[in-house]
Amino acid sequence: MYFKENVSIVYHELLKEVGELEIPNEEFVDCRNCSLCSHQSLIRFNTKCCDYQPSLTNFITGSILSDFSGDLATGSQLVLDRIHKKLGVTPFGILPSSNYNKAFQLSRDEEALVTQEQTTALKCSFLKNGNCTVYKYRSDICGLHQCSSVSLDHGLAFWEKAKRLNLYLDKHLSLLVAKKMGIPDPINIPKELKSLSSLIETESGKIDENKYKKVWGDWNNKEVAFYKECSSIFQSLGVKELKVELGQNFEKLQTSLAASAVPFNSHISPDFLIFNEEKWKKSSNYKLLTPIMLMHLRLFNGKSKTVDVVKKAAFMQLGLNKIMTELMAEDCLSQKIN
Ligand code: SF4
Ligand code: SF4
Repeated sequence: MYFKENVSIVYHELLKEVGELEIPNEEFVDCRNCSLCSHQSLIRFNTKCCDYQPSLTNFITGSILSDFSGDLATGSQLVLDRIHKKLGVTPFGILPSSNYNKAFQLSRDEEALVTQEQTTALKCSFLKNGNCTVYKYRSDICGLHQCSSVSLDHGLAFWEKAKRLNLYLDKHLSLLVAKKMGIPDPINIPKELKSLSSLIETESGKIDENKYKKVWGDWNNKEVAFYKECSSIFQSLGVKELKVELGQNFEKLQTSLAASAVPFNSHISPDFLIFNEEKWKKSSNYKLLTPIMLMHLRLFNGKSKTVDVVKKAAFMQLGLNKIMTELMAEDCLSQKIN
């Protein structure tokens, strides 16, 4: 597959070179049959990985509101609902509120203690009936998040770099487009776009009407028109101009991503693997494995397909990525030779 298939359509032209990078199909990741929501007792039963609220840049928001193709009518309506509620609605994009950001961070810091109620409260506002309603435009880390990879840690390293690149684009371009719309840069430009939601909030995280009006200026109560205009401005900017604005860091991020596509492509897990338990016990990195982990690793017997073993483990909420990488490095998990 091509990398661009995981990237928002608005960036296809700008990311033409890295967009054409060929990368392996992530066969270990099956979002349609995800084990995270396979049973109603599981904490992510209602959300899968979408207990995450992405930042929608101003120009992406405008593109969604101007696009009536496919299923986007639902996406547009959900965007309008967000605009109506005001929380997180800034000239830089529709962002998760500060309280959401705090709750999200807590859920990731204390993953083991999180309840289904908490993950459901964090459900993305664009997720409906288990589907992403803004799929064609999804940006932020959406589309780039993979829970596993056919190239194990080499693949995950690629996806991490892809996220860094995409977040860089989202933040810098939303600020650029806002500026072209007459909105000055905030006094303190945060590391992450999502932090800008605090610009329109009270200390307790509610909407501060005065701040809201001040931030929006002449565009107050004309947010939909504003976002649509942002989309037009973004589309009118040439790739050359965008590259100049994005500077050398953009080039660096792309070069780094392209470099990591090499190990991603060259370390694809073989279709059939054999786990050499005795060798592992004598290896320098040996550590005791849980009985359930051991049970799944023993399924690498040269007969079961690698993808099936990985999916079976995922169904038991067991990620094999890390241990498989370690075992392969020690040659304790190796290709079946006919
Ligand atoms: S990335 Fe993995 S965990 Fe998340 S929804 Fe897809 S299959 Fe499930
Ligand atoms: S935008 Fe789409 S992919 Fe991203 S979290 Fe929301 S529903 Fe999931």
